[in-house]
Amino acid sequence: MSPIAVRAGIEQTEAAELPRALGTGERREAGDLLAAPLRSVPRPQRLTAPLSSIRGVGAKLAAAAARIGLHTLGDLIENVPHTYGDLAEITDVAELRIGERATIRVEVRSARVRPTRRRNLRIVEATVADASGSLPVTWFNQAWLAERLRSGAKLLLIGRLEGKGFRPEAQEFLDSVSSKDPEGGRDPIRDAPGPPSGLHTTGIVPVHPSGEGLRAQRLREWTWGALALAPDVLEPLPASLRRRYGYPGAADARVAIHFPRDEGDVEAARRRLAYEELFLHQAALLSRRGERRSELAAEPLGVAGELVGSWLEGLPFALTGDQRAACAELDADLESALPMQRLLMGEVGSGKTVIALYAMLRALESGGQAAMMAPTETLAEQHFATLERLLAGSGIPTALLRGSTPAAQRRRTLAVLATGELPLIVGTHALIEPTVEFARLRVAVIDEQHRFGVGQRRALDAKGPSGLAPHVLHMTATPIPRTLSLTAYGDLDTTTLRQLPAGRRPVKTWHVGEERREGAYGFLRDRLREGRQAYVVCPLVSASEKDQAKAATVEAERLVGGELRGFKVEILHGQMPSAAKSSAMARFAAGEAQVLVATSVIEVGIDVANATVMLIEDADRYGLSQLHQLRGRIGRGEHESQCILFAEPDSERARLRLEAIARERDSFELAEVDLALRGEGEVLGTRQSGLPRFRVANLPEDAAVLAAARADLVALLADHGSLGAPALGPLLDAVRARFGDERAEPIAA
Ligand code: ADP
Ligand code: MG
Repeated sequence: MSPIAVRAGIEQTEAAELPRALGTGERREAGDLLAAPLRSVPRPQRLTAPLSSIRGVGAKLAAAAARIGLHTLGDLIENVPHTYGDLAEITDVAELRIGERATIRVEVRSARVRPTRRRNLRIVEATVADASGSLPVTWFNQAWLAERLRSGAKLLLIGRLEGKGFRPEAQEFLDSVSSKDPEGGRDPIRDAPGPPSGLHTTGIVPVHPSGEGLRAQRLREWTWGALALAPDVLEPLPASLRRRYGYPGAADARVAIHFPRDEGDVEAARRRLAYEELFLHQAALLSRRGERRSELAAEPLGVAGELVGSWLEGLPFALTGDQRAACAELDADLESALPMQRLLMGEVGSGKTVIALYAMLRALESGGQAAMMAPTETLAEQHFATLERLLAGSGIPTALLRGSTPAAQRRRTLAVLATGELPLIVGTHALIEPTVEFARLRVAVIDEQHRFGVGQRRALDAKGPSGLAPHVLHMTATPIPRTLSLTAYGDLDTTTLRQLPAGRRPVKTWHVGEERREGAYGFLRDRLREGRQAYVVCPLVSASEKDQAKAATVEAERLVGGELRGFKVEILHGQMPSAAKSSAMARFAAGEAQVLVATSVIEVGIDVANATVMLIEDADRYGLSQLHQLRGRIGRGEHESQCILFAEPDSERARLRLEAIARERDSFELAEVDLALRGEGEVLGTRQSGLPRFRVANLPEDAAVLAAARADLVALLADHGSLGAPALGPLLDAVRARFGDERAEPIAA
């Protein structure tokens, strides 16, 4: 008998049988097992039946369901509830207390539609009763109910007692429950018994992700019906892993996540399903990596030699420890005939370009060519400028190729690229056009790799010499928290640059409230008198550039007339013509102005070593990564730098964020905090970051589960050779079903 029915105190005959046998370690009686329906062979193709195979689902409802991604009965089973309403036992009418949510089981005494003067308002009033007493119930705008509220009709109501009577949120008619399943030979869906009473109103009630035109109640009923097919879900997890963790089986977990008996059921099912989801996703990533590796080999580049060595010695700075470690990892990759697929992560200014150039010079040294691809013309230009600077005096020819390169120049560049005379090129995706040919492309660098699609990255692979792929170094400045990097980049080897290059100093950061504002200006004036300079990031008034420009002007005037009287102040905002912007920046850089009052436009492209103080207004309204970028404008010279955040946080979360930015210097740690405080969905748009949308798993909470799933999978693949092993058939099928799309187009913008 359904446990939900038990809770509702409903006799067994009224309840439909719920297909369940939750494998949470409960021992089953032999009699139970014998009595269980025989379904020895799962038939997963039945899960692909369209929703219209459910009685009463027509085109309109099917379309509403399709809008939220529900097309098949299998989709219903995988559409796990996002929350549960825990509805307690049935309460006697006499025991109801005003304002408390409760479920009552009553009989209708009388009902009527009350006329109102407002045309749009229909009120249904009924008097209902149980053995303990009677009370009035009022429904608004559900006139259709009146017909079913015949005297003597029995129903469950959930709602609250208010001054004038009971206000129901949901009702369920008990006389509509169909008779129990007759024996044999029936279609399990079309002829499924109607939902059991209490499905919506008693016990733990699942609330599914729903959409416009789909009532939660309807979805719940469909799901109930579809779960008759739960035994057709293939078990993707090997038995050894299920046993090790004590996980319920695939079918049981699915039944339990939708219609649990208690919180223990939910937890057990959730643990298994989260593991399953992360396990399948890792399997998708690792099989993608395996495929790429088995398709093409690469030219091993041997060990680093003369050219690279003397270039490193000629650099005006010494590599940081992180940079040296990165070079060592590259060396190991480049020695192999497996094409390198490494991701280099590091915030802007952490020195990635130097490492990219190191990899490219290794290609040149071996007699090969190298290319660097960036997602925009501006980025490609910047890289080109940086490379030219870093290669100054080396005599190595380089070229820039982009969409706007004039035809004649483009022809010349392509010609020398094809002969191999031009060893090094930087460009946009113009580089992967079919007309571009390399003689010996051995190393390719892809900047902001998540902004390229798989197809584009594959096209670059295909530019290698016949039958050989280039070694590929991917780069990103987006700090992905450690706990997410396995899901975002599980198919790549990763290297992180955390150390600031020499000459960059950590910025002391303070959060101060209004009461310390005067003191902060005093501190600022002291630094200015010592000869330092400062940025003031003006208050955020709105998203509009125009409003922001005005706010900057107002703030600058306020400061000149008040706290910063006597100091020279410049303004910088996005609405200024670019000539005015550059001259303002130039005056500040030359030390003619002491303070630059700016909107957050100073995030990009300003480098004044003597600026050591930054005041940020409304700091609680910026994201953590934005604050981190902003303060990166100071701490660039010999003097200690301080960032002062003005904010009156109005929530605990905002306060914790300010605490974190004051404490953490490392953008990856900050990303981690951000994730913990905001949740994965919000930290980075999933599309933008290439992170999959998980249905059950939550990161970072499930980080340990993720690590375990990854390790288990690696061990499993070591045992079986590959995901293609016959013993792992159901696993591969499940990977394709769940993450098939991502295999086609992963980590793309
Ligand atoms: P990223 O590509 O990560 O944004 P870059 O490689 O462009 O960073 O480096 C930023 C600046 O720091 C460049 O001017 C570069 O020459 C310089 N730089 C890189 N590594 C070091 C280092 N180890 N010491 C000092 N300066 C460095
Ligand atoms: Mg750079």
